[in-house]
Amino acid sequence: MRAPGLVVLMLCAAPFVLGQQANLQGLKQEAAAEVDKLQTLTQQMVDEIFSFSELGFQEFETSRYVTGILEKNGFHVEREVAGIPTAWVASYGGGKPVVAFITDIDCIPRASQKPGVAYHDPLVEGAPGHGEGHNSGMAVNVTAALVLKKLMAEYHLTGTLKIFPGVAEELLGTKAFYVRAGLFRDVDIVLGAHVGSEFATSYATGDGESSGLVSVQYFFHGKAAHAAMAPWRGLSALDAVELMDTGWDFRREHLRPAQRSHRVIINGGDQPNVVPSEAAVWYYFRELDYPHIKELYDLGNSIADSAAKMTSTAVDHKLVGSAWPAFFNKTIAEAQQKNIETVGMPKWSDADQTLAKALQKEIGAKVEGLKEKIEPLAEPAKEQTGGPSDDVGDISWNVPMTYLMYPANIPNLPGHSWPNAVAMATPIAHKGSTAGAKVQALTALDFLLQPQLVQQAWDYFRTVQTKDIHYSSFLGPEDKPAIEMNQEKMEKFLPQLKKFYYDPALYKSYLEQLGIQYPTVKRQP
Ligand SMILES: [Zn+2]
Repeated sequence: MRAPGLVVLMLCAAPFVLGQQANLQGLKQEAAAEVDKLQTLTQQMVDEIFSFSELGFQEFETSRYVTGILEKNGFHVEREVAGIPTAWVASYGGGKPVVAFITDIDCIPRASQKPGVAYHDPLVEGAPGHGEGHNSGMAVNVTAALVLKKLMAEYHLTGTLKIFPGVAEELLGTKAFYVRAGLFRDVDIVLGAHVGSEFATSYATGDGESSGLVSVQYFFHGKAAHAAMAPWRGLSALDAVELMDTGWDFRREHLRPAQRSHRVIINGGDQPNVVPSEAAVWYYFRELDYPHIKELYDLGNSIADSAAKMTSTAVDHKLVGSAWPAFFNKTIAEAQQKNIETVGMPKWSDADQTLAKALQKEIGAKVEGLKEKIEPLAEPAKEQTGGPSDDVGDISWNVPMTYLMYPANIPNLPGHSWPNAVAMATPIAHKGSTAGAKVQALTALDFLLQPQLVQQAWDYFRTVQTKDIHYSSFLGPEDKPAIEMNQEKMEKFLPQLKKFYYDPALYKSYLEQLGIQYPTVKRQP
């Protein structure tokens, strides 16, 4: 009884699929036009999330705001996924392929900055701020998803859209947990988006300037005593921290040049006349591949144990973050590159360029304004040098994925600090996010309408990327997301930050709400 039904289904399906392909170009044009129509919403998302300024694991307002927009537009939202209060998944549609979007939402400690002002001028002194530009990512992905949803409904396109937030990316804190929770098990293609100053994508190890890492906190436990009256009765946990750091620095000379390791002392004791019974240090150990990262991690543990022995203290450690070095998919990157070239760079105004050049001058960077040109898709670098990390790496080893860099920020900035926030609630970020949303929408259409392209991406993933290397998480079964991190810092600044939340009902832009003239630059002598 089932056979005739199947024949009917195939007869119906075949011309429909052909029709979908023939319509691809037309749909792409329509998608780009629809993204343009949503420019106001895109700008509001950029500005609103900028004003929330939430640190990793504390993105409550941001998540409430973004999921609210998605729910209002017919997406189904599942909250608190993977045991993380600010994580969620929003879905629309049904069936294959499943195209997922991901982008970060957290900000940087002490990076508070007035937008559109080309010198250091914090909105709230000492407060967190979007000194990485993560406030623009959801504007890109949500705009694209709303447009795709409209087209899918109108043209009866099959497929599922999923939107994920990169929670606590600055702590490399969640994506390995997402993977462990199986959130990507049914996903076919992942389109990540990250703010940049260029409009670009890459594949494989790209420019070779990225590393994987483990982020580990070491807690030393000693014995308190009066530091003058009876120091011999105490055991200093701080001594152990300092000996660990000294040990690591001596050892550093004999490590591969590709490694990057850095630390901050998160607890150095309370006051000098009390022998510190508790002290803690937090390390990032970065290397180019899993075995080398694992080696650094083991070495860190052994140096910590040795420091504890030298001081007769005890030590335990906690893995608070991890990331595989990212590896991106060639098939998706090639499709994405064509769409980047179709969309083209945003048109920068004189005001945009003035802000960019003034900021570059202010911080002593090369003064060249905003980028105007799109570079061709580059071959992966022959040699990997290593550099920063991103926990999307873990996703990229489980599903074919690329990372779109969209041009929403100023070139030649130091990263992770106030200069990187200057453009992030100005027309530079608004235009760059609209351009990014177009590419995300167009690339999703490529995969929604061409099943053979999904197949090709998976062929590359299976026969090239994972031919000899297989994913194995840094997480142990006992490891839990460090959801308590940043809670105190955020609580401290929340009352002040709330006063500056953007209200799009009253002001056309955040610049207007703050009364900032665009651009505000130092007067030339
Ligand atoms: Zn980032």
